[in-house]
Amino acid sequence: VIELPWLFSHYAVLRQARAADRFPHALLLHAAEGAGGEPLALFAAQLALCREAAPPCGRCRDCRQVELRQHPDLYWVAPEESKLIRVEQIRELSEQLALTAHGGAATVAVLQPADAMNAFAANALLKTLEEPRPGTTLILVTAVPSRLPATLISRCQRLRVRTPERAEALAWLTSQRGPHDWDAVLDVIGNAPLTAAALDPEQVTRLRQETLAALRAAQAGGLDIAGTAERWARGEHFELRLACIENWLTGRIETCAAGAGGGDGRGGEMRSSTHLSYVADAANMAPLLRLLDAVYQLRRLALTAINRSLALEQLLWQCARGSAA
Ligand SMILES: [Zn+2]
Repeated sequence: VIELPWLFSHYAVLRQARAADRFPHALLLHAAEGAGGEPLALFAAQLALCREAAPPCGRCRDCRQVELRQHPDLYWVAPEESKLIRVEQIRELSEQLALTAHGGAATVAVLQPADAMNAFAANALLKTLEEPRPGTTLILVTAVPSRLPATLISRCQRLRVRTPERAEALAWLTSQRGPHDWDAVLDVIGNAPLTAAALDPEQVTRLRQETLAALRAAQAGGLDIAGTAERWARGEHFELRLACIENWLTGRIETCAAGAGGGDGRGGEMRSSTHLSYVADAANMAPLLRLLDAVYQLRRLALTAINRSLALEQLLWQCARGSAA
């Protein structure tokens, strides 16, 4: 399991809990996307399943099997094609948990991201949590705990996973992948070093420039919107493209906010009259926020190429008009 420097305090807390025989029966890891929730879940699984004197040793058969996610007492539940964790998956997990503990006494199940459970799945999991089997640890990893039922959260010990500072994230990325403009990559995807580490930084920069140029062209009325939407929808970096659009929108919203507050002068031409500029910026802001919300929704959906194309086309028209229908 990769050890992330910004998670050291969490490793220590979990180690202490295990040493004191207080390892939680249900653990909720609240971690921003790409900030280390998954590696921390693997660490916790090793901690629960390693039988050496100072767990996790990282070298024994249990530790290595967890690392490869092939441990017979580790269940890893992730969304399927639909981007959802379905109730059938939870029922299957519950049945397996009721049967098991193979070699040792401990069993671990990781749900990641736990907020991918629909209401039926969450309800089924709640039943498992209500009748805990000794030695079982459930680990729920989520960036958005508010998407989980409160009844479920209340039964978990909650750990707010630290998000690294930008400088820490940049140092780690450079140590792992060598020097690149990682700052620009994190500007696009947010402070998500593990996501960034899996990307080609040059490609992200190119994609961002291309996307911004197209959005500016759309605003100027000079973009073949349908053609661009179709091309982007077929491209392999749909999510990254949406991240670029989100980034652009966030920038515009910040500009509006600065203008509305009389702010730092970035409001530009709208500041000719203080009162009027306030009205204009507030009016500009609402559609931008609606657009931003539309992008959030799109990023969470599993879409076919045709649906992607239609959604992008609508989005680009709205960006061009600067308003959401
Ligand atoms: Zn071990």
